[in-house]
Amino acid sequence: VSKVIKDQFMNGIILRPGQILSVEDAMNIAKNYEWEVELIHEQEINPFDAIVSAYSDAYKESSRLVQRPPVVTVMGHVDHGKTTLLDRIRKAKVAEDEIGGITQTIGAYQVEVRNKKITFIDTPGHEAFTEMRARGAQATDIVVLVVAADDGVMPQTIEAYNHAKTANVPIIVAINKIDKPNANVDLTKQQLASKLGLVPEDWGGDTVMVPVSAKTGKGVEDVLEMILLVAEVADIKCIPEGNARGIIIDSRLDKAVGPLATLVIKDGVLKPGSYVVAGSASGRVKALINEYGKRVKEANPSDPVQIIGFDEVPDVHSIVYAVDDLDTSRSLADFAKSQAQKEKSVTTKRHVRLEEFLSM
Ligand code: GDP
Ligand code: MG
Repeated sequence: VSKVIKDQFMNGIILRPGQILSVEDAMNIAKNYEWEVELIHEQEINPFDAIVSAYSDAYKESSRLVQRPPVVTVMGHVDHGKTTLLDRIRKAKVAEDEIGGITQTIGAYQVEVRNKKITFIDTPGHEAFTEMRARGAQATDIVVLVVAADDGVMPQTIEAYNHAKTANVPIIVAINKIDKPNANVDLTKQQLASKLGLVPEDWGGDTVMVPVSAKTGKGVEDVLEMILLVAEVADIKCIPEGNARGIIIDSRLDKAVGPLATLVIKDGVLKPGSYVVAGSASGRVKALINEYGKRVKEANPSDPVQIIGFDEVPDVHSIVYAVDDLDTSRSLADFAKSQAQKEKSVTTKRHVRLEEFLSM
């Protein structure tokens, strides 16, 4: 490998070990050594697979895993109080001076309850669940299903429930708006049982249901306590060290700083200076910014954080991987780009790994 790399370097071509070459390039290089190359078999190699399997292997070593804070998504029918509940929790748990008058700019925040952290992310589109599952990663560990006690189970309640169930995510039901005179908690529970098969614990079932008023704040502490309890049972783990991996929950092009991506870290530690790739977007982390617009020196598992430094706006729900160097991030991004192009066009490009080619 090193001889080929050196020889090619003398020809002005820079190669890396493990680099993926087209069959055409590989054949051209072979000519330099008067080798005859015959294509007998071709197999697509997805360089992301190696990264994914390295994480899965690490997950098999239970001694490497540690508990991480739960990532919670609030879902439910429109106007049942999702936004009000999220606002109420944030106001109750985040000191005003910490926010410093800056409005939360990203669709996620973290609170501390009895020294334990909880990350909340704003309702992703329901399709996000299926999409992210297909990519082998889940942004959410627990779903809080908000159901207004004056309205009961509605179509989007059922939809949200179905998504959470398919994704196999534990559900806590927040029966909201109990301050309203026409609130009927028992009727709501009946509907949850008959329409969704969710039976409350006090009726002998196993679904945690918390009566709450996002408006007055009543029951909000109970919701947080229940999240911690469910999280403990769910045993939410991560690989605490090494290259970070995360899920993009929001992204956009900012006029001042360029591509801006919000992610929730799943594993490892992300720091300014880390090389990252997310689909066809790659780059070096110039700055990490928390949910209150402050620069931070690192982001750990379950932390929500914004990245400045991508060369293009990464797709929402794509997975961010930190890698060892810029070349790796670029070649992964190139691969993703070529895959995306291939999906569009009928022409298929052939790839073979340099080492594979040399061992033929
Ligand atoms: P979302 O669509 O689920 O995000 O619902 P919102 O949080 O926007 O709430 C819809 C409406 O219900 C708003 O007018 C809220 O002020 C009101 N609301 C939310 N929670 C409560 C509650 O606990 N009690 C009462 N009385 N109103 C609430
Ligand atoms: Mg809302």
